[in-house]
Amino acid sequence: MKDKPVSSKQQEVQRIAEVLAKAIAQHRLRPGVRLVEAHIVEIMQANRNHVQAALQRLAMQRIVDIEPNRGATVAQPSAREAREIFAARRAVERAIVEAITPARIAEHQARIEQHMHDERAATASTDRRAIVRELCEFHLLLGEVSGNQVLAGILDNLMVRSSLIVALYQRGDSPPCASHEHQAIIDALRAGDTQAAVGQMIEHLDELEGQLAIEKADAADVNLRQALSGL
Ligand SMILES: [Zn+2]
Repeated sequence: MKDKPVSSKQQEVQRIAEVLAKAIAQHRLRPGVRLVEAHIVEIMQANRNHVQAALQRLAMQRIVDIEPNRGATVAQPSAREAREIFAARRAVERAIVEAITPARIAEHQARIEQHMHDERAATASTDRRAIVRELCEFHLLLGEVSGNQVLAGILDNLMVRSSLIVALYQRGDSPPCASHEHQAIIDALRAGDTQAAVGQMIEHLDELEGQLAIEKADAADVNLRQALSGL
């Protein structure tokens, strides 16, 4: 009996954290947006302590920033952090792809087919949120198909943070992934060509990183430094 309130509290904190992370990943809440505790309590009909704990959890995952006098805001990853997240994704997603055998693809065939169908439907539409959601979902799905829950858990966090980076640094309005590149990765995995699948995944991530205007942010840093030196 004594354990029950603890575990239901943990579940509630998890629920709130997941809803907020999802809203952030789908660009419903953009980087820098204030997360007012009282509003979240009201909107999610949650307990204030649970909301606080959920925000703390997201802060530990670097998805939310908490400052003593400003409260919580959606994190705004720096250019350096953006590069580090992409480097981490290359390592984690390589390991995920290496863990996926043709047997695992066959086992999850129906879900993969359904996902690729939804992804194509989304990218053919103009629904920006659906596009971002489905393209991100592909990477998470591979994490699940790999069967390695530790890698999948790390990728969950990296994908939310990637979404923040895309919201901050994406050039123009092009979608963050190309759907035919996803299909090529699946085809190589189905054929049992792990090496080709890894190569395609790394190329895909390089492509995504290349679409971001991260160097502009670097340039702004440098100019600020120059502007302030010697004063
Ligand atoms: Zn992708």
